[in-house]
Amino acid sequence: MRDLAILGATGSIGTQTLEVVRSFPNRYRVFGLSGHNNIQLLIEQAREFKPQVVVVSSEEQARIFTEEVKGIEVIIGEEGLNSLAEASSVDIVVAAIVGTAGLTPTYRAIRAGKRVALANKETLVAAGDIMMAAVKEHKAELIPVDSEHSAIFQCIQGIRDGELKKVILTASGGPFRGYTKEQLENVGVEQALKHPNWNMGAKITIDSATLMNKGLEVIEAYWLFGIRNIEVVIHPQSIIHSLIETVDGSFLAQLGLPDMKLPIQYALTYPQRLDNSFEALDLIKLKEMTFSEPDTKAFPALALAYQALDTGMTMPAVLNAANEVAVGFFLEGRIGFLDIPRLVEQTMNAHDPYKARSISDVLAADNWAREKIRQLAEVV
Ligand code: NAD
Ligand code: MG
Repeated sequence: MRDLAILGATGSIGTQTLEVVRSFPNRYRVFGLSGHNNIQLLIEQAREFKPQVVVVSSEEQARIFTEEVKGIEVIIGEEGLNSLAEASSVDIVVAAIVGTAGLTPTYRAIRAGKRVALANKETLVAAGDIMMAAVKEHKAELIPVDSEHSAIFQCIQGIRDGELKKVILTASGGPFRGYTKEQLENVGVEQALKHPNWNMGAKITIDSATLMNKGLEVIEAYWLFGIRNIEVVIHPQSIIHSLIETVDGSFLAQLGLPDMKLPIQYALTYPQRLDNSFEALDLIKLKEMTFSEPDTKAFPALALAYQALDTGMTMPAVLNAANEVAVGFFLEGRIGFLDIPRLVEQTMNAHDPYKARSISDVLAADNWAREKIRQLAEVV
């Protein structure tokens, strides 16, 4: 029996993690859950999975929760997240909070030597070197949940040092695949929230529409697999979740239906594979898979991410924070779709990158970027 802490339990990844847990009741037990704004869902989850601890974000939520559910410890805020992430009875921490809010608790889980099932890619984008050094130092396990990185992680099993030549990340292209820059100028929030293949939280759905998600994933792949040779290929069917090329010219791929329960389950069970009853891929029904080059003119966010990776130091943290703020502005209807990459680029251009030696250095760069993009957005 392994005990889980699910940070961000009420989100898209969090609820799908609980679906996986539900199908293996004899293997996984929920020790703790966290939720930020959907307190009713957290209450339902707590009733079903009977955790020992829940973390909420305010006194008010704590009050509502304790009125509804008895006998569960309720802790509040970031300190609560940190203490859940490092609790001694927890074996696996599922890092499923969205954005920079997930950074410190993920870091604390790594420092506590846990297995971390990582969905929160922003953590590696902002602080990849610090996170990876801590993984090594504290003998933690960082297992990717992001479907592309799970695919690559599965493909490199049995591949030795020096044998990996290239990583190829597939991208669906999002709802605006094939659009020109002119067409993108006027797309609205509702259209951008309609992802063709995946049902995800709002932030990552917008990131998928701008291709910033793929850019963040390039940086994530760099830190996870230690390789610079990373290519992005548009594959609208989202069946090949990603590929590797080995030095002898073989391509290895992982395929499946677009269903996050698969990579979530693998991150929990690795190195084992367990039988499940999720719907399986039918190649005859699928018929065809197609591939094309990403259009970085219409979708400059991807190029910005490569640029941030090349510059290194605090630049990826600035890219990430500026993007998070810009996506928020877009969702609130305050800026247009193309303003997202435009403002991120302007913020990056205004930044003097430096080497971050600690998480607080990273958070300082993150805060700087948030302030900067707010100033810049006033003039859009
Ligand atoms: P979501 O918006 O559906 O859920 C986010 C979760 O984080 C919720 O439980 C929310 O309560 C919590 N949260 C949000 N802000 C918080 C804060 N300030 N403090 C504490 N908790 C907070 O997002 P999601 O789609 O589940 O994505 C979660 C992470 O997983 C993201 O980093 C995303 O990039 C990554 N990811 C998601 C998918 C997917 O299919 N949804 C796929 C790959 C990677
Ligand atoms: Mg992904």
